[in-house]
Amino acid sequence: MDWLFYYLSTLTFCMLVVFPTTGAFRWRHLAGDSQLSGCSEDLHSKVLERLPKFELHAHLHGSIRYTTILDFLKTEIEMEKMKSHSDLNDGIELSAELRQWLEAEKRVLQLTLQDSDHGNANKPFDIFPIVHKIIKRRDQVQRIIREMIIDYSRQNTVYLEIRTTPRILADGTTMKEYVELLVKEVYNHNLKLKEGFEKTDQNANSSNYSNMLVKLILSVDRGRKSNEAFEIIELANNLAYYPVGLLTAEREKVIVGIDFSGNPQGGRFPDFENVFIAARNMGFNLTIHAAEMKDLSIIGQGEKEDETSFILDFK
Ligand SMILES: [Zn+2]
Repeated sequence: MDWLFYYLSTLTFCMLVVFPTTGAFRWRHLAGDSQLSGCSEDLHSKVLERLPKFELHAHLHGSIRYTTILDFLKTEIEMEKMKSHSDLNDGIELSAELRQWLEAEKRVLQLTLQDSDHGNANKPFDIFPIVHKIIKRRDQVQRIIREMIIDYSRQNTVYLEIRTTPRILADGTTMKEYVELLVKEVYNHNLKLKEGFEKTDQNANSSNYSNMLVKLILSVDRGRKSNEAFEIIELANNLAYYPVGLLTAEREKVIVGIDFSGNPQGGRFPDFENVFIAARNMGFNLTIHAAEMKDLSIIGQGEKEDETSFILDFK
């Protein structure tokens, strides 16, 4: 049951540029201050908040609330303290693990204080190593996607595509289970949207329903091997429709795209071209991170060619 708005995600190719992470900030950027001149800063915010928004590329791990990261860090710190039976003031030398989490907590607190730096390109790279280390369990993934959906919904986003790289978690969660968990969360959320549309009772409490449709994009990390990339698109192909057990026509397509991402120095797009051709043949839309670094070149057919041109020529 592929209802509503799905056509809106049928971008066959999406060149990504780095925008600040919040929809509101992005709209402020696009609208330009001159168009809203005469409005106070406060009114700007209100107008921008009310505008309906489409977010076609929201990073799951890049949208975690700072307060949630701090919560996770606090739990790790408490667990480490219990393990070593030490208090921070008892003079016992702290374990390397505990020192590492305390350092991370300090760093996150510093970043949250530097609010004026919001949108600074260095900031995500400061925080990502901490985020990737701290997300170890299924319940954490469940919490971050639920909070993310609430946060985007509050910004009056009406269509949201969440992208994530399937990963194995420290609690033993496999890549397949990781993707299944997210597909289920998104499906359950979308069910509320559908129920809201189907509800004809005018007296029904509309706050029980959502106004935002959510979809998933699975990402291929260019730093990993292309056989793992094939594994990811196979996963996407097998898990795209939910709930399992119904006929395809009765299910919702939750995974709508495949993304190419990761450290720009970590791998070359031509080595993954076949993966993306296969993904497109499976019916997925594609998004490709490109031109993230200056002078990134590849060797193609005996001559130097830049990767961005190669990606632009990929049809
Ligand atoms: Zn991105």
